[in-house]
Amino acid sequence: MPIVYFVVPCYNEEAVLPETIKRLTAKLNQMIGNGKVSEESRMLFVDDGSKDNTWNIIEEQSKQNKYVGGVKLSRNRGHQNALVSGLMTAKEHCDCAISLDADLQDDIEVLDEFVDKFMEGCQVVYGVRSSRKKDTAFKRTTAQGYYKFMKMLGVDIVYNHADYRLMGREALEALSEYKEVNLFLRGIVPLIGYRCDYVYYERSERFAGESKYPLKKMIRFAVDGITSFSVKPLKVIFNLGVIICFLSILGFIYALVSLIVGIAAAGWTSTICSIWFLGGLQMLCIGIVGTYVGKIYNEVKHRPRYHIEKKIINEENDYFSDIE
Ligand code: UDP
Ligand code: MG
Repeated sequence: MPIVYFVVPCYNEEAVLPETIKRLTAKLNQMIGNGKVSEESRMLFVDDGSKDNTWNIIEEQSKQNKYVGGVKLSRNRGHQNALVSGLMTAKEHCDCAISLDADLQDDIEVLDEFVDKFMEGCQVVYGVRSSRKKDTAFKRTTAQGYYKFMKMLGVDIVYNHADYRLMGREALEALSEYKEVNLFLRGIVPLIGYRCDYVYYERSERFAGESKYPLKKMIRFAVDGITSFSVKPLKVIFNLGVIICFLSILGFIYALVSLIVGIAAAGWTSTICSIWFLGGLQMLCIGIVGTYVGKIYNEVKHRPRYHIEKKIINEENDYFSDIE
């Protein structure tokens, strides 16, 4: 039976935390009772620099409930960083870790399925929302538009998957090798590889408290996702420069013809040609600089180049001892 850790980032979640701990404990007890997970499984709550009672609740509960563990971050570092700190802590103790939100919007009844898939040999299991009926129309359209836009930019993310996912020990080890500061987990995890699968669930509303993702944070998160994974915007500048340079040649010919035919006003030809040509040239140059910036950007991230999934080494010594 695997040791499973539930990793729960919490930012000012005093309104939901007691209930969340109650529900998760019940679920964990049920899973242990069914022989699905080891008795050493735990819940790990990460306090992401909350300003309310969140940490006190975690501390209090951990005294009464042996399944409750906690990590306290020195200050608010955002959902993604909180999640990573929890996963990296869990990695030292568990066979697999499942990340979920403190508000339990993600249906915890499918936790068994996650573990089943893990037992079948998957290192990564993505929770995918089967529908977005419960979202506001605004969130639904912006979120779906975003997934499509990311696809267009060549970023491989799982459609309708947030951060409800299981990661096995090996996948967690791999994740720990990504040293970049702007960590966008939904983009990184597919990069890691290993066998993966999906679990579908229905997402409900927050049962208490309010969203910790106001529009401003959401936009920042979205832009971060794009700029951490794609240098396409830089390429667009370059291509635009090339197109404008080409157009300026056409414009040049047109202006020249107008001059010869005699319909051009004095000084117009040279003005219009330089505007177009210089504009295009500048954009092209920015694009070239951008290409190098893009390279630097990829280098400074120091992403690992590979992860070894399996290894076969024939120990020579054993071979000889067999012969003897
Ligand atoms: N969260 C966090 N740090 C932050 C913001 C949010 O740890 O700076 C946590 C929050 O406590 C919750 C999860 O991230 O467990 C998702 O946040 P929320 O439910 O508010 O987002 P929504 O579901 O509205 O997108
Ligand atoms: Mg939520």
